Amino acid sequence: MKKICSLLGLLLMAFATTANTPNKIIIPDVEGYKTLKGDFHIHTVFSDAPVWPTTRVQEAIWEGLDFLTITDHLDTRHQKMVYTGYFTNKCDRDTSYKIAKKAAKNSDLIVIHGGEITRGMPPGHFNCIFVKDNDDICAAAEKNDHDHVLAMDGGLREARKQGAFLMWNHPHWCKHAPNETIMWPAHKKFIKEGLMDAIEVYNSACGYSPEAHEWCLKHNLAIIGASDEHAPFFTKIDYKNGGHRVVTLVFAKERTQESIREAMDARRTAIFAEGMIYGREQELKPLFNACVEVQNVKFTPKQVSFTIVNNSSIPLRLSKAPGSEKYWYRRYFEIPPHSHANVSARLVQVDNKQPLMDESTKSVDINFYVENFQIGADKPLPVNFHITW
Ligand code: ZN
Repeated sequence: MKKICSLLGLLLMAFATTANTPNKIIIPDVEGYKTLKGDFHIHTVFSDAPVWPTTRVQEAIWEGLDFLTITDHLDTRHQKMVYTGYFTNKCDRDTSYKIAKKAAKNSDLIVIHGGEITRGMPPGHFNCIFVKDNDDICAAAEKNDHDHVLAMDGGLREARKQGAFLMWNHPHWCKHAPNETIMWPAHKKFIKEGLMDAIEVYNSACGYSPEAHEWCLKHNLAIIGASDEHAPFFTKIDYKNGGHRVVTLVFAKERTQESIREAMDARRTAIFAEGMIYGREQELKPLFNACVEVQNVKFTPKQVSFTIVNNSSIPLRLSKAPGSEKYWYRRYFEIPPHSHANVSARLVQVDNKQPLMDESTKSVDINFYVENFQIGADKPLPVNFHITW
């Protein structure tokens, strides 16, 4: 009996260690703010996805997210799709939110009420986040259903009346932008009239859009990355090998829905997707500083060495940047998540002679670009390590 029990124990242990557990994303808080992560764009059976809202909540909890917004397509065409065909008499366009909210009741997950207005291009698809009544938004849009732009205008105005946050989704989706990513006159008008707060710069189906990133910088819009997932996540993400969904990072004063909204209005967001961080310099610099720690500083008259520790789930790719030309050090460092790299710097030789370090300042400045922290299209974040001893 004892043998059987220990065998069973071993089997259970083997199962526990080989189970496809998620790689929970660990990103430290930045100075003055909590770093919250979540998904602002996802679908359920209440539009065109084969997943029940409770499963969306379970997935988000399992992945360690802080917030989730279910954004089912609100238009009647999508509501009539096969998955909701069974429920139309018993539900409305807020049902997926209500189910998710209830399912998250005993967890830490913050469920935010949202919906997606879906039209042809232009203007395409918009998410309304922090809404109160999706049926009213749908009705306002469908008043002018003969015209995509007018329909969107009506829907966005109703959402705005409810206090919603408005985001242009995937401007670079192949069906909307088959050759190049364009901002149409309708979008310019929405920006001018205060009907656009954010753009989805990264979407799982389309990847990263450098154009959208630049538009966010130019028009002071929030930079959002979202999954827009329709399938169950376990069919899409290789959790075993460290995979995770794309997340928006929100730098919020508190871990509350109100604080998330305040941070989005203040544009304190960034994206973590496929080992890359996209955002603005003012958010990415403190984020980088929060992720790294300098240890082990050693000085000899000939060189200074130190260790850069990466305390986050974000891989760091550093390359030598201008401003530290008088020092010789390795040009490229790759620091995997929760790992470290050793840097040694010595003065560049002059006439084949090794000069000695200047002991009067007792400091060196070592500059890098963080190649995978992009603060604009093709623009890596510059960082400085001021090493003193
Ligand atoms: Zn969508």
